[in-house]
Amino acid sequence: MPANYDDNNIFAKILRVEIPCHKIYEDAETLAFMDIMPRSEGHCLVIPKRPARNTLDADPASLAAVMASVQKVARAAKKAFAADGVTLAQYNESAAGQVVFHLHFHIMPRFEGVKLAHHGGPVADHALLAAQAEKIRAAL
Ligand code: 5GP
Repeated sequence: MPANYDDNNIFAKILRVEIPCHKIYEDAETLAFMDIMPRSEGHCLVIPKRPARNTLDADPASLAAVMASVQKVARAAKKAFAADGVTLAQYNESAAGQVVFHLHFHIMPRFEGVKLAHHGGPVADHALLAAQAEKIRAAL
């Protein structure tokens, strides 16, 4: 476990299935699930299973596995919502906007003329998130 990694963070709890998530995709190294405060329709996250605070301390092999899953899920999310594009985002440390200290990539489908919602906006309806996760899964 990296010295600066706190395994009480919310994504570590999701990995231990101590709290639920709307799962989209999982393999040996990575997990993808819906962001509960979406900034765009279909906003989801990909995380490594191995503990890492962010990109700066991640094991390169784990990071490579995360990027492969990011590509797979981003393609599926774009298809599922017939999006015009996809924004990827990833923040390292508070000064850069990081709030949850387990490495994660944001996948945000984008639509012409539609701005991203505010970071940390309201929690979405869980039935809607479940339906969106199913839609992305079907497009994988
Ligand atoms: P960041 O650390 O990249 O600034 O943001 C963390 C992201 O995690 C935010 O987009 C936020 O909406 C999301 N988030 C925070 N708590 C939870 C949670 O309990 N479950 C899920 N699925 N996402 C969360």
